[in-house]
Amino acid sequence: MRTIGHFIGGREVEGKSGRFADVFEPMTGEVQAKVALASKAEMRAAVLNAAEAQVAWGNTNPQRRARVLMKFLEIANRDYDKLADCLAREHGKTVPDAKGDIQRGLEVIEFACGIPHLMKGEYTEGAGPGIDIYSMRQALGVVAGITPFNFPAMIPMWKFGPAIACGNAFILKPSERDPGVPMMLAALMIEAGLPPGILNVVNGDKEAVDAILDDEDIKAVGFVGSSPIAQYIYERAAATGKRAQCFGGAKNHAIIMPDADMDQTVDALIGAGYGSAGERCMAISVAVPVGKTTADRLMEKLIPRVESLKIGTSVDPSADFGPLVTKEAVDRVKNYVDIGIKEGATLAVDGRGFKMQGYENGFYMGGCLFDNVTKDMRIYKEEIFGPVLSVVRAHDYEEALALPSDHDYGNGVAIFTRDGDAARDFAAKVNVGMVGINVPIPVPIAYYTFGGWKKSGFGDLNQHGPDSIRFYTKTKTVTARWPSGVKEGAEFSIPLMK
Ligand code: NAD
Repeated sequence: MRTIGHFIGGREVEGKSGRFADVFEPMTGEVQAKVALASKAEMRAAVLNAAEAQVAWGNTNPQRRARVLMKFLEIANRDYDKLADCLAREHGKTVPDAKGDIQRGLEVIEFACGIPHLMKGEYTEGAGPGIDIYSMRQALGVVAGITPFNFPAMIPMWKFGPAIACGNAFILKPSERDPGVPMMLAALMIEAGLPPGILNVVNGDKEAVDAILDDEDIKAVGFVGSSPIAQYIYERAAATGKRAQCFGGAKNHAIIMPDADMDQTVDALIGAGYGSAGERCMAISVAVPVGKTTADRLMEKLIPRVESLKIGTSVDPSADFGPLVTKEAVDRVKNYVDIGIKEGATLAVDGRGFKMQGYENGFYMGGCLFDNVTKDMRIYKEEIFGPVLSVVRAHDYEEALALPSDHDYGNGVAIFTRDGDAARDFAAKVNVGMVGINVPIPVPIAYYTFGGWKKSGFGDLNQHGPDSIRFYTKTKTVTARWPSGVKEGAEFSIPLMK
């Protein structure tokens, strides 16, 4: 059986803790590899190695740092198919979807190639008599990223791209469920010319995460995963004075106004609700039709579409979605469906019994659709993270607007309408971080920032875009006076720029 170690100091090294986790192939249900789980001591050694390497990297001019990222883009594109195949086989999502996962990560690397411009400071000549003021952005040192299973290419790149471009060394602790692609990306960065020790992948579980959080030489931690862990990481990182940005779970609503184009809306809901088996933090998991007529029209079109979803293996190019990530994930999602039935929701489509012929041990389930879900139900309040869409019927626009606004999570939301006034009002008022107008998964592009509100995001800066440069640098401001501007005598009161 293949074993996956760590990537430290520019090469793959064996794990020494003696602890391993199984890496499954969700489409067959078989264990395909064992991944090493790092000890506290292994993490510490990686951090010390990274800290040593960072000094020279931080002093390398930004243009040269950008050139490494440009080369990485070239060779990652060369290996696109290999990366997508590994990703699909470890995660379960289909190959075309895996390619999207890689592509959205590479777009942030493209953004980070602009680092010479992005890291520029400010300068004011003559802020006072003979006084000039300027600011500069400097790397933090060693920073870390802890990432989830559901985007094993995109989210690591969102983190390490800007961090490394800014001159930091990076410790990536990817999900132990699909570590293959992060290891491949680290090797490609070395091939692209990154000095050893600047990008390290340390595989592991809670022990490795806690070692990151308690290590005083790690200056910032970026986390993406479920909300309880996000909150835990945010709080524990603060104890050692780290910067932290921790993104959590979601319950993304789609509001369907009576004037919405129903065919387009149903297409959008099917893709955003069931793509990647619903294992996306920006998946639509709640549809809110406004008014009874809208709800009835929606259900009439939605039911046959959910019934005819094509579930396939991860390597079947015609599949709408593939298996879930683990058997535990399937059991958890099916359990939520049972809960929904007990709570009194109407199960309009039941995908629990789906079996994939020839792949009976794979982690499959069919799409499920609930109608008449209400806001007191657990299936509404909690994140299910599977191919289950809940329809909550709203009487009017105000009630529909209040649902996502009052929900604990606040990642993404969408409104489907032809009415510009309604859309504008919704975008201004809804209490959620990312809004789509006739766009079901409003993931902002690389040069804007990505981040949810409320329980979906802890910390004050978003991922990628300009916020990522702010997060991975500290600002130093210099006030300089030259002798020609010096007045005679000492000043005892607070200096003013007269
Ligand atoms: P998870 O919280 O189980 O794991 C995320 C990371 O935390 C992994 O690296 C894991 O090893 C580590 N971890 C798990 N348990 C831990 C513990 N007790 N202590 C310390 N570290 C721990 O999340 P997941 O199942 O990998 O990913 C799915 C979740 O991520 C969903 O809730 C999804 O909504 C969320 N997500 C959010 C975003 C976003 O940007 N808001 C993006 C993608 C995924």
